[in-house]
Amino acid sequence: MANHSCDYNCAGVFDGMKLQLRTIKDVKEGEECTISYVDVINPAKERQAKLEEEYHFTCKCVKCVEEINASGPVDDGSGELELQDCAKVLQLCGPYLKPMDSSSSIPVNHYLLVRVRHRALIAYMDLQEWEKAAEIGQLITEHYR
Ligand SMILES: [Zn+2]
Repeated sequence: MANHSCDYNCAGVFDGMKLQLRTIKDVKEGEECTISYVDVINPAKERQAKLEEEYHFTCKCVKCVEEINASGPVDDGSGELELQDCAKVLQLCGPYLKPMDSSSSIPVNHYLLVRVRHRALIAYMDLQEWEKAAEIGQLITEHYR
């Protein structure tokens, strides 16, 4: 078992049937090993809501505190889209399914951009367009790097 932190220092990795806890950054002697129970690319308010709903605690990690103190109107969730039709998803997402340069008005690691790409990935998989799904998968991987 490992406690949660949005600024986690470990990740669980399966080796066959064996679950290993591996550090993903330097851990000082005596420092608690933590994992994340939620997708940390989401804004702090969404992470906290999910943690409260599913795990019944309020995360007060450094990452949450810093994000909430710095949060502005971009975290209000107004960018949430209800998209169900694959073709519509891909039509709407088109401009965001390519690598973006630094001149873009959208920060390259904005969580809504990652969400759009996740939905496009699922849409391409539903359509069995595997090469396009793989391209989107590569873009998403860059966010997490
Ligand atoms: Zn947190």
